[in-house]
Amino acid sequence: MYGQMMDECLLIQDTLEHAARYHGGAEIVSREIDGSVHRYSYRQAYGRVKKLANALASLDMREGDRVATLAWNDHRHFELYYGISGSGGIVHTVNPRLSEESILYIIGHAENRLLFIDLEFVGLIEKLQNQLPDLEKVIVLCSEANFPDSTIDNILCYEDLINDFDSDYSWQRFDSETAASLCYTSGTTGKPKGVLYSHASTIEHAKAIGGGEGWSLNRFSSVMPVVPMFHASAWGIPYAATMAGCKLVLPGSKLDGASLYELISQENVDGMCGVPTIWQLLLDYLNQNRLTLATVERTIVGGAAVPLSMIKEFDQKHNVFVMHGWGMTEVSPVGTVNYKTPEMMELSRDKQYQLQLKQGKPLLGLTMRIVNDAGENQPFDGANRGYLQVKGRWVAKSYYKSNDRSAFTDDGWFDTGDIATIDQYGYMQIVDRAKDLIKSGGEWISSIDIENLVESYDGVREAAVIAADHPKWGERPLLIVTLKKGFEKIDVANYVSQKLTKMNLPDAIIVRSTLPYGATGKVLKQELREEYVSFLLKK
Ligand code: AMP
Repeated sequence: MYGQMMDECLLIQDTLEHAARYHGGAEIVSREIDGSVHRYSYRQAYGRVKKLANALASLDMREGDRVATLAWNDHRHFELYYGISGSGGIVHTVNPRLSEESILYIIGHAENRLLFIDLEFVGLIEKLQNQLPDLEKVIVLCSEANFPDSTIDNILCYEDLINDFDSDYSWQRFDSETAASLCYTSGTTGKPKGVLYSHASTIEHAKAIGGGEGWSLNRFSSVMPVVPMFHASAWGIPYAATMAGCKLVLPGSKLDGASLYELISQENVDGMCGVPTIWQLLLDYLNQNRLTLATVERTIVGGAAVPLSMIKEFDQKHNVFVMHGWGMTEVSPVGTVNYKTPEMMELSRDKQYQLQLKQGKPLLGLTMRIVNDAGENQPFDGANRGYLQVKGRWVAKSYYKSNDRSAFTDDGWFDTGDIATIDQYGYMQIVDRAKDLIKSGGEWISSIDIENLVESYDGVREAAVIAADHPKWGERPLLIVTLKKGFEKIDVANYVSQKLTKMNLPDAIIVRSTLPYGATGKVLKQELREEYVSFLLKK
């Protein structure tokens, strides 16, 4: 027997209409390219989104069209999220930090006819335009006064374009399984693959991350996603903030410590989200200038493992709780969050920090398991490790225009490529990426375990551990670090030799001035491996 309730569904545009009507005065604040701050309300944003929807129709955007963006986190990008999906199109966020080759591949593969770009990407598109045959119009996200003199064919100014239209628009109703946005995986191996999110998956994910197991957003919150809107929808914050009617603070392209600190303090930011690399820059800036974060209560950190030193520094110097989370593009992206619980608060500080190192528990709507090489379930005992597999309402079931099913199991799970443990309370901890594990004399060594330990040393800024070929053991760990002023390699060597077992002790330490980072802020271990894989053979 079915229930006897209405068959109504919620679409992305409904959430903004709701915010405009019931939280109309709440603000969206963003940093402009010239450094100034733009501020308006959800009510005003909604008016402009409807103008945009009319403008998209005039550009012949049809249902199911993939419309690309190359843009930072700001109010115009926010409008595109709602205007494109709301009128039946698919927002295709392209990561501008990718190589030109990948950008060409992604825009070509998605067959984008319309492309919206920030001013600073005009030069890039001038260069690539000839290799993008499907592209019909390029719209620059700027005002008429800033509109560039450019060689791009069919170039338009965003503000001019939408100003010609009315803010009356009636949204069409469609099935909530309709595609809403598209994001390609960072493609560390093989070609980038497209993940096609639906209205329903986006809303379910946003409800989960905005709720009590996630960021707990409400009308009093002021949230700043530093994680980019071109990478997995800035972890869904632009949707979750709208649904909660909370203040949304968008940092634009200015991600240096001074600019972030200024926005955080001026806009009373109480929750911020981003990868560890960004927070390290902010912490360095705060240290150098003897500043503290007065308004921030929690920072959501994910995308890469959070070092213990960062958890401690946020807590001890700034009274900020680090909420560790795990996710990936295929998971919309958030899968687990390590939120505060009464049980956690009863632990000693040190035990609490150890618990915060874990990536957390799955949000309601997502199920997890760990399996061994034979595909057999491993126990949730915090010790046995296995391949992490997930399923749920906001997990991809296939890739866009691709037959690659290697990550999808026959019984309906998505294999994340991560190796994890899950403890008896359900806390998941990433041990490694399957391909980053080190196999020494037949035993597995976790590169993340060693990195965590090394990063807990005061003198180390960043650490990466890779598998280097070894004549006797097959592979051995090689430690690559960047150091803080006043520290030397010998200091790190002394520290690790006291703290690590012989088995886990890296065979050599390499000091560099920087580590290579990829387009989404993660250390490119593959690049390090290519450079140093034979390092121990030559010694
Ligand atoms: P992406 O799809 O580019 O967002 O990358 C997803 C991958 O980032 C995951 O499969 C993990 O390997 C890694 N990752 C994400 N969050 C964390 C975390 N908190 N700790 C360790 N690795 C993480």
